[in-house]
Amino acid sequence: MQLKEYDVVIVGAGPAGSMTAKYAAEGGARVLMIEKRQEIGSPVRCGEGISRASLEEVGIRPDKRWIAAEVEGAKIVSPGGYIFRINERMAGNEVGMVLERVLFDKALAAEAARAGAEIMVKTSATGLIREDGKITGIRAVHHGESIRIKAKCVVGADGFESQVGRWGGLDTTLKPNDITSCFQYRLTNIDHDYRYCEFIVGSLAPGGYIWIFPKGEDTANVGIGVLLSKIKYPGQVKDLLDQFISRDDRLKDGQPLDCVSGAVSVSPPPDKLVADSLLLVGDAARIIDPITGGGIAHACISGMMAGKVLAEACQEQDFSENRLMAYEESLRDRLENKLWRNWMAKEKLITLSDEIFDKIVKTLAEVGVEKMSVGNILKVIKARHPELIKEFEELI
Ligand SMILES: Cc1cc2nc3c(=O)[nH]c(=O)nc-3n(C[C@H](O)[C@H](O)[C@H](O)COP(=O)(O)OP(=O)(O)OC[C@H]3O[C@@H](n4cnc5c(N)ncnc54)[C@H](O)[C@@H]3O)c2cc1C
Repeated sequence: MQLKEYDVVIVGAGPAGSMTAKYAAEGGARVLMIEKRQEIGSPVRCGEGISRASLEEVGIRPDKRWIAAEVEGAKIVSPGGYIFRINERMAGNEVGMVLERVLFDKALAAEAARAGAEIMVKTSATGLIREDGKITGIRAVHHGESIRIKAKCVVGADGFESQVGRWGGLDTTLKPNDITSCFQYRLTNIDHDYRYCEFIVGSLAPGGYIWIFPKGEDTANVGIGVLLSKIKYPGQVKDLLDQFISRDDRLKDGQPLDCVSGAVSVSPPPDKLVADSLLLVGDAARIIDPITGGGIAHACISGMMAGKVLAEACQEQDFSENRLMAYEESLRDRLENKLWRNWMAKEKLITLSDEIFDKIVKTLAEVGVEKMSVGNILKVIKARHPELIKEFEELI
């Protein structure tokens, strides 16, 4: 079956896809967004933490319907039990609200529809259509039927497992040291401090951390991320989380309401995000924060930037790589330094012993830090323990 022609077809209806769809459609482009799952936002594969500031930046007004919990701040807990608390305004992109992504993702898709975008669910992209070497749309399977969707530009918003970039010749392959494997339960009947998002660092989660993100007074997303290169056997990530839960008095009587596994990239950004008639947004573009593994905020930012550029490209009827480069440039201006710096910091952090984590968290707890950033944290540690940060000096 051949559908009508669009200016832009977006593969994936996560936050990155919906934000792209909204801004491109608002600017006058004929937009179709397809989603392989039958329900947008479900199943959730996310800890669901995001800051208020991140939503403000992309013009999303908080709505009680998709906010599960609002927190006062973050607690960072070291292996030896030192705790550093920081308020939500200073704590970074993942702290402030814990979402109901199943509703949040739908709300963003509904905004895109209101702006004029069309949506198809249970529609999985299977390849690109090329004519005379040029990308002119996608092949897809819609409710079991093969279809062809013609479009002047294809957007890969297809998340961590993205294929669109690869189909279009954009290299988004990741090294095992740049992938974090995650496992999470939504645990209920627990006795956690629901005013804080908690991050537990050290060898309990090799190369990553354990998180407790409140979803209510006795319920939380309790998850773990472990660097792929540090995993010794299949199933180890779940085992590590189960061990942690069974030893934690607040959590050990908890019962799961669901569990999810997934992966996030913790890499520097790839060399190229656009080609003729093709661009990548969100996790597909490998723009997750390499330290926190958080990607909702960056997905929304990249979607907004891409949508605006696509609307202009549509006015000019120019979807060449040169024209789409305006998107890549604005995204790099906004995120590239941070992604590189945090990736370099991650490379060092994964080498630290529990003893050093204890010293760092203890120092932060005693001295405090104005705003969570790699640079600020290092400055505080340098003043007390210059010997600890010799190797990090270049990041200050
Ligand atoms: C366990 C876990 C916990 C996390 N916790 C947090 C957190 O607390 N805070 C945070 O900020 N980030 C977190 N993240 C990361 C966050 O979930 C992602 O960064 C975010 O969802 C990226 O949005 P996206 O739109 O780029 O991709 P996604 O949300 O992954 O959306 C991609 C969409 O594309 C669809 N799709 C894929 N292939 C096709 C295809 N061929 N055809 C059609 N549709 C397709 C998928 O079904 C999906 O709906 C976590 C990730 C994991 C795995």
